[in-house]
Amino acid sequence: MEDQESQEIILKGIGGSPGICIGKAYLVDKEGVDVVKRYVIREESLSAEVGRFKTAVKKAREALRRIIDDMPEEFRQHAQILETHMLLLEDKMLYDRTIDVIEKERVNAEWALKKVVSLVKPMFENMSDDYLKQRAEDITHVSDRIMENLVGADQVNIASIDKRVILVARDLSPAETSQIQLERIKGFVTNCGGRDSHTGIIARTLEIPAVLGVGNATLNIKNDDIIIVDGKAGIVVVNPTEQTLLETEERREQYEIRKALVARKSHLPAQTEDGIRISVMGNIELPEEVVSVLDHGGDGIGLYRTEFQYLSQPDFPGEEVLFENYKDVIDVMGNRPVTIRTLDINGDKAVDYLRDNQERNPALGLRAIRYCLKKPEIFKTQLRAILRAAAFGNVRILVPLISGVEEVDQTIRLLDEAAQCLEQQGVAYKRDVPLGIMIEVPSAVVTADILAEKVDFFSIGTNDLIQYTLAIDRGNRHVAHLHQPLHPAILRMIKRTCDVGREKGIKTYMCGEMAGEPLFAPILLGLGVDELSMNPQAIPLVKNAIRSINTTNMDAFMDEVMGMTTPDAVEALVQDTYGTIVSKIEPAQQEQ
Ligand code: PEP
Ligand code: MG
Repeated sequence: MEDQESQEIILKGIGGSPGICIGKAYLVDKEGVDVVKRYVIREESLSAEVGRFKTAVKKAREALRRIIDDMPEEFRQHAQILETHMLLLEDKMLYDRTIDVIEKERVNAEWALKKVVSLVKPMFENMSDDYLKQRAEDITHVSDRIMENLVGADQVNIASIDKRVILVARDLSPAETSQIQLERIKGFVTNCGGRDSHTGIIARTLEIPAVLGVGNATLNIKNDDIIIVDGKAGIVVVNPTEQTLLETEERREQYEIRKALVARKSHLPAQTEDGIRISVMGNIELPEEVVSVLDHGGDGIGLYRTEFQYLSQPDFPGEEVLFENYKDVIDVMGNRPVTIRTLDINGDKAVDYLRDNQERNPALGLRAIRYCLKKPEIFKTQLRAILRAAAFGNVRILVPLISGVEEVDQTIRLLDEAAQCLEQQGVAYKRDVPLGIMIEVPSAVVTADILAEKVDFFSIGTNDLIQYTLAIDRGNRHVAHLHQPLHPAILRMIKRTCDVGREKGIKTYMCGEMAGEPLFAPILLGLGVDELSMNPQAIPLVKNAIRSINTTNMDAFMDEVMGMTTPDAVEALVQDTYGTIVSKIEPAQQEQ
């Protein structure tokens, strides 16, 4: 029974996946496992204790293998995360050191494991690189599995939950998240994790509401509490009042109705009321996602993040594999544009097999084009694959993290060399491919006039532009509130890029997350962004917003926007002026 005395509490976290759900909480809190006692092992029992640890690891490995093998097809792309967990299970740092502690300190396996994890985890947590930080979470997931086997606790078996509930957990590993049965689990809430954690990515793939990084959810929520999860606002309401429930139910229904209505119109063109046609494109990480772009009404691929193919391999992929992958995407897209971004590894996307890559500050290190120019053979392999694939469709090449014109010159030189090489080998290719650069480093904005002379288009990457302009680590949840796309500095940078693009006769696109927010569409159109690219689920909403905008009388609004001094003031202004308009579903007569 619900406790009528309970107070309504609002918990704030990070919106991991949009949508609203209301339901009973189901705690899968594993914190109990952390309460580990230390006891001394007698000399003659030490090898048995080590054996107990090895068995626990073996069981953990078998359980993970089963999860990987039973993974439904749609999760295959995430199997790599679990393969990483498999490797971690045998990692020297964890495995050998725990055995060492058992033997040297003559302590029980649980205590030894806990000690090793407490030493190893902070090493990862203190790294500035987002990707390596995520490895700290992986270590927790892996050690939890071993610990549960050691103490005999049941592994949380999400697949066996047979009630319609909302999961509440300290953390959900990607393996657990991938076991979620959509017909049972309405949504989930976790203490840990950020928007870009693997768990968040899977939640968005599943399209279920999720709030992550709440901090204290498992302390404030009890089993069977009624809770509301608002995955867009990043809010969890515990024990909502009757009034809050009614209001939320209404909002939820509106959200669902709206989503369905918007989806029905997603194949209509994104044309403003005054007849300006804007291409709304999809961002993809893997070739399989290309279908989702078409399903959601995307006009093309505005950003193909090719590095994910490199991240999920044991070694650098060869030209043939890359060519096949690019061709697969191009074949599905037919004549529609496919923007292939060249390798953007390192920074927050470290590659396991680059063992020599120990940078103190990877976001400012040998990332993306800097890495590619340092390793021209690796870069040319990719360029050759792209030029070959370009012969089959409408390809654009996009180069990330450009900070100055020499990088563009060198890229063009390598493209010429790659083409020459293909020519000599008599392999079919196309050299005449539009070349664009990501505008995501402040120096690129400042020198946009110089860069525009060399390239065919700009594509603004707001995720990094915000990170590098406002000095906000994009993966750090403690500064997530300062990651503000409407900051006057960012708006001025976008404006300058578009102005320069127009002066120099090249188009300016946007493929950062900012492009996927319908409320920002009036500002982006007003600033002169020519094309928007976003995660596929956002396409119908943004197209709908564009259809409701009239750009003819925007000057006064844009003057006011650019005169604002804070992100909040800009947001209030756009909300007041366009909030209702962009969230309204367009009239049915436009449907053809
Ligand atoms: C960006 O930085 O905005 C962008 C689109 O690229 P990525 O998120 O892959 O760094
Ligand atoms: Mg970027």
